[in-house]
Amino acid sequence: MDVTPILDGLNDAQRQAVTAAAEPMLVLAGAGSGKTRVLVHRIAWLIEVERVSPLGILAVTFTNKASAEMRARIETLLNMPVGNLWVGTFHGLAHRLLRRHYQEAQLPQGFQIIDSDDQLRIIKRMIKGLELDETAWVPREVQYFINAQKDEGRRAANMDDRGDYSRAQMIKLYQSYQDICERSGLVDFAELLLRAHELWLKNPDILGHYQRRFQHVLVDEFQDTNTIQYAWLRVLTGKTGIPFAVGDDDQSIYGWRGARGENMQRLQTDFPGISLIKLEQNYRSTANILNAANAVIDNNAGRLGKKLWTDDNEGDPIRIYNAYNERDEAEFITARIQDWVAQGNARADIAILYRSNAQSRVFEEAFFQNSVPYRVYGGLRFFERAEIKDAMGYLRLIQNRDDDASFERIINLPTRGIGAATITIIRDCARANATPMWHAALSSAGGQLSARAANAVQTFLALIEKIDEDTQGLDLHEQVNRTINQSGLIAHYKKEKGERGEARIENLDELVTAAEGFEPDDAELELPPLMAFLAHAALEAGDDQADKWEDCVQMMTLHSAKGLEFPLVFMAGVEEGLFPHKRSINDPSGLEEERRLCYVGITRAMQQLYISHAEQRRMWGSETYAQASRFINEIPAELVEDIRPKIAVSPPAFNSSNRQAVRRPNAATRSDAPIKLGQRVSHAKFGEGVVMNYEGAGPHARVQVNFEYEGMKWLVMSYAKLELL
Ligand code: ATP
Ligand code: MG
Repeated sequence: MDVTPILDGLNDAQRQAVTAAAEPMLVLAGAGSGKTRVLVHRIAWLIEVERVSPLGILAVTFTNKASAEMRARIETLLNMPVGNLWVGTFHGLAHRLLRRHYQEAQLPQGFQIIDSDDQLRIIKRMIKGLELDETAWVPREVQYFINAQKDEGRRAANMDDRGDYSRAQMIKLYQSYQDICERSGLVDFAELLLRAHELWLKNPDILGHYQRRFQHVLVDEFQDTNTIQYAWLRVLTGKTGIPFAVGDDDQSIYGWRGARGENMQRLQTDFPGISLIKLEQNYRSTANILNAANAVIDNNAGRLGKKLWTDDNEGDPIRIYNAYNERDEAEFITARIQDWVAQGNARADIAILYRSNAQSRVFEEAFFQNSVPYRVYGGLRFFERAEIKDAMGYLRLIQNRDDDASFERIINLPTRGIGAATITIIRDCARANATPMWHAALSSAGGQLSARAANAVQTFLALIEKIDEDTQGLDLHEQVNRTINQSGLIAHYKKEKGERGEARIENLDELVTAAEGFEPDDAELELPPLMAFLAHAALEAGDDQADKWEDCVQMMTLHSAKGLEFPLVFMAGVEEGLFPHKRSINDPSGLEEERRLCYVGITRAMQQLYISHAEQRRMWGSETYAQASRFINEIPAELVEDIRPKIAVSPPAFNSSNRQAVRRPNAATRSDAPIKLGQRVSHAKFGEGVVMNYEGAGPHARVQVNFEYEGMKWLVMSYAKLELL
């Protein structure tokens, strides 16, 4: 047996973990130290050397993408397929178990999984059915309550109301929601985990079977397990199972969703003899990147304490870009990407990481304009998000009453008592008379609607007419703003609890910003602004996102970047209020979680890291002036290169007809500056334009020129041969 492939490329500590005897093991180590690699090699070792059947191994990863990769890497190491190895996410594995043992789990064979939107709809209907007041029993709060209980493993029947009336009512609602799900054979996400846990507890035979079978239980990203996940693992391992967990307390970033970093300590209490292995060498990043990450995370108290080192060379400094505003930031990054690609590198090696999904829009626009293929991971592209489509539905219908798709999308959103039956009648009537649904609705479907339904429908039609009337003649962004407010969408989403509801509001505000900065293409110039904007949005929502196989820039939130690595990383919007998020600034534990997120971000970078922050940012519908994030200041100065010295930066001036930032000429001149901002220049091919920006010195100095006919371009001074006008 040749174990060389399994042991090659492992250091001593890693080898020790991979080849350990069958005993509980916790690998506690910082980012990029090879935890995931150890896990993969451990599985290969168990199969190849210890002769454990792949059937006897259970591996838990954090995302589906990670589990597919893990399986592929094991197969490469072993040079054979391991189709019968169970590797997946907690939800995926729980689902698999429940399908197999649906009877013991007391589920119908064809049980259906519902997502969070479906769940909310059920809760709303239930509240209505119970004739409760929706303002007192807000559906989204009820949903949040139910899921939080399930994440902690609590059933309504076992809960104590502590003599509190409102809690007692919540528990009742939890129970009736659960009754509905049971009756209809529905399982929500949190229920998957809870049910799978109960499957163990209620069925000793089944539990015994899996305990005997899964001798080895391996878990990646252990620091982000929640209570019910830990309980499920704990029961499965029982007295004989051998846990092998890898994790990093410094990368615990899902506390807000119930993850319990303290599960790391708990594992050590539950398995007193557990071997603890620490890995200290980082293989991912240059010394500068790693030292920056170490320095930042050092500001957190109460860490388990690890020191990471690398024998990689220093590498490039971390480049900090102080942008004027979010567009400048996007343009800067686009130019860097183009340089990288021009040097023969792959776009897939580039990641753009941001704190908030709403930040992606400005990049999407810049990439679209510059034909840079990109892909947004974990989260929909801006114009595909549900709340944006809802808002667009109103705008479309206002523009065009015959738009049936929009009509159907929003007629009962927010809920206004127009049920599916009413909509069917209207649709049938429209079809019978070959008219748009709007017309059918006007006549209350030729009088077929009940008085109550007809009334609700007429109110809706009047609302659309009223919004149309009220927004006539307004500037486009005001039109959008009024519409989303008058439609009730903002109020509707405000009721949604937690991060998700906030994100929706932020996205709606961002739509107003998009409208404000909107400039029609040539083809759209002739259209009224709203119509041009709608056309633009439809194209954006189309498929200009790169195909799967295409080499494209990777865009994602910092949260979804966990576990991944990229040669070139941009962390964008690293500003106080955005990152750390304003919600966490005054909350010490929230702030520490943000800092861990920053640590995760920095440690994704292998060779080059750019961190950018904008002085002025138009986002979420308003203009903010922000300072560089404290996290930037926590990076030692000797590791950093400021791309544009702060003294050279001045706030942008706006002219009112065009909200694009226009820099004040003369405001930012440097003594050694090759050229002045605001200088008019002429280029042999592109014609005349104005210098908007510049960077670097000597032969590499570059200027950004806004050409009258060709738009913005970055040019290398020594080649561009610009003529000063
Ligand atoms: P994270 O905390 O971000 O999840 P990790 O600890 O899981 O990181 P890995 O992703 O396993 O780290 O490894 C980081 C990088 O270092 C990978 O590219 C991996 O292939 C490489 N690597 C790990 N160990 C070694 C080694 N002994 N020799 C060379 N390269 C290694
Ligand atoms: Mg990992």
